[in-house]
Amino acid sequence: MTADARSPLSPTVRTSSSLDLSATPRVTVRPVPHGLVTINAGFWSNRFRAVAQHGLSTQLTHCQSTGRLENFSRSATGQPFEFEGYRFNDSDVYKWLEAASYALAQHADDALEQAVNAVVELVAAAQQADGYLNTYVSSGSTERYANLTDDHELYCMGHLIQAGIAHRRSLGSERLFNVALRAANHICAEFGPHDRTEPDGHPEIELALVELTRETGDQRYAEQALFFLDQRGTTPPQLSGESVIQDHAPVRSQHEVVGHAVRQVYLAAAMVDVAMETDDTSLLAASAKLWESTYERKAYVTGGLGARYQGESFGADFELPNTRAYAETCAAVAGVMWNARLLAATGKVRHADWLERTLYNGALVGISIDGTKYFYSNPLGVDSTPQPGDDRGANSSVLQQTQTGHARQSWYPCACCPPNIARLITSIAGYAYGQSDNTVWIHQYLASQVTMPVSESGAITLDVQTRYPWDGTVDVVVTSAPSHEIELRLRIPEWACNARLHVNDKPVSVTPGSYAGIRRTWNPGTRLQLTLPMNVRLVEAHPRVQENRGRVALVRGPLVFCLESEDHPNIDLDAIGIASNTSFASTFDEDLLGGLIKLEATGVLLAPKTNHALYQTASPQSHRGPVRLTAIPYFAWANRTPRAMRVWLPLVTQ
Ligand SMILES: [Zn+2]
Repeated sequence: MTADARSPLSPTVRTSSSLDLSATPRVTVRPVPHGLVTINAGFWSNRFRAVAQHGLSTQLTHCQSTGRLENFSRSATGQPFEFEGYRFNDSDVYKWLEAASYALAQHADDALEQAVNAVVELVAAAQQADGYLNTYVSSGSTERYANLTDDHELYCMGHLIQAGIAHRRSLGSERLFNVALRAANHICAEFGPHDRTEPDGHPEIELALVELTRETGDQRYAEQALFFLDQRGTTPPQLSGESVIQDHAPVRSQHEVVGHAVRQVYLAAAMVDVAMETDDTSLLAASAKLWESTYERKAYVTGGLGARYQGESFGADFELPNTRAYAETCAAVAGVMWNARLLAATGKVRHADWLERTLYNGALVGISIDGTKYFYSNPLGVDSTPQPGDDRGANSSVLQQTQTGHARQSWYPCACCPPNIARLITSIAGYAYGQSDNTVWIHQYLASQVTMPVSESGAITLDVQTRYPWDGTVDVVVTSAPSHEIELRLRIPEWACNARLHVNDKPVSVTPGSYAGIRRTWNPGTRLQLTLPMNVRLVEAHPRVQENRGRVALVRGPLVFCLESEDHPNIDLDAIGIASNTSFASTFDEDLLGGLIKLEATGVLLAPKTNHALYQTASPQSHRGPVRLTAIPYFAWANRTPRAMRVWLPLVTQ
């Protein structure tokens, strides 16, 4: 890549966005397109650059070397061929195109744009005359729509449609968009009440079709998405009827998240999308019920989703194992997408809070600091030596990870996660701001400038400076504003007790877990300063989370921290406990892993486990002593030698 690291990430196409709700009828807060936001410094600028300058090029190399691109070029011949890889590998190429399009909207890069154009031509050439596109089927491996439960054809074309929309919005090109449109028209012609009626075993097409309605203004695509939603859980079932693919009940009657986590969350997100476009309140209510099931009983402290290896699935309520957490990176990305849609639909701060928690922890852990290595599953504890039998139910990608002691991998046989986290990070600015009538919302605190048209008479421009999440100070300057009242709403996270807000040095009262709203006619130069507390919090889990009874996680701001054995040589991490009155030193170490905050404290070294019988009569711990502990942000673990790691530590009574 040739991106110039010195120049700011300035938007070249002002409308680039992953979610365009500008004309959506039932919406509370419209997200501001990331094309209107300039990220010029800070935490997310570094993550964006890692993906744009290194991640995307290495991902493309893997798409080439693993036959993913070759599958397209061989499909274009019209002759049968030997297909390489998994049947759904087309989707990785589409997600790469989506991520690369967003990156190019933020930062011109000739080499990347040429690569995108070349891949677009490969994709276009592989499309069949009626708009159908799937290289696995084109290879002759199976027939069209022979097995919608497993073959992922609509899933793949869904990602094609999302890539086509992203390419058009980001680069103004019709080339890939027309391919996507033809695919969507084919699907609408093929599936309907009087034609094929089965939904896809892996939801995704629904999200894509709704976004296509937003892009074209043609309601037919959203209606097609609604049709697919209503084909799940029919009697008799049209797929397998199993809960692992959410085919066990009609979507409006599904009140608990079950089965494959990524599929479930894409489905729940699509329910919100369709609800917003069609004003179907029952769909929104059903998705909100699923949200409560997820984030009140089945989510990790990191925002990670999916407890079980088997079926890559959600577990029972409060079933949240640490070392055997599945928590696929894609599920966290899906969680961000779901919360963003619920936030738009309802304006409820809890969705912005969980979106933040997931972004900084459960999703970001899925990509290395340098942007070129990935995690598929994301455990919250890892032992130095993998235990025999620990891989039960793991697919080949997770096996590849666990058998290397959870070393980050540059690619996976099933490579859904790398381009998924890439498309999230390259569109990250789209999650920061929102708009409603004469109201501007700041959901996430990113160092950035944003100009938002707020009325026919003008726009408001905000300059946000912050080192968040390393530092809790957020400075917002209104650099231009129309001459009428506008309400500015700033999110006060639920964890931010003692948060303070000043407007031109005058205090404004705020409440954690809400938006602080200030309505006035804004004079250019007005300064707001939000100070969020960055004390270390000892967070406990619900007592029904069996593995975490008597344990706490270290959390500072939005960041969950962890211990790595790299920082504790010759010490069993299980022997490190923490007292409730521990004081922590937070230090920014610019030489550690690209620069990050580390926590240091005196912990409690518990009785050594040597000579401890499997069972013995309990006695007061007599061998306790002090131990220096160092914690780093969870997202940054395994960027050094992969060894042991712990998020949850025993809470010790002094
Ligand atoms: Zn994945």
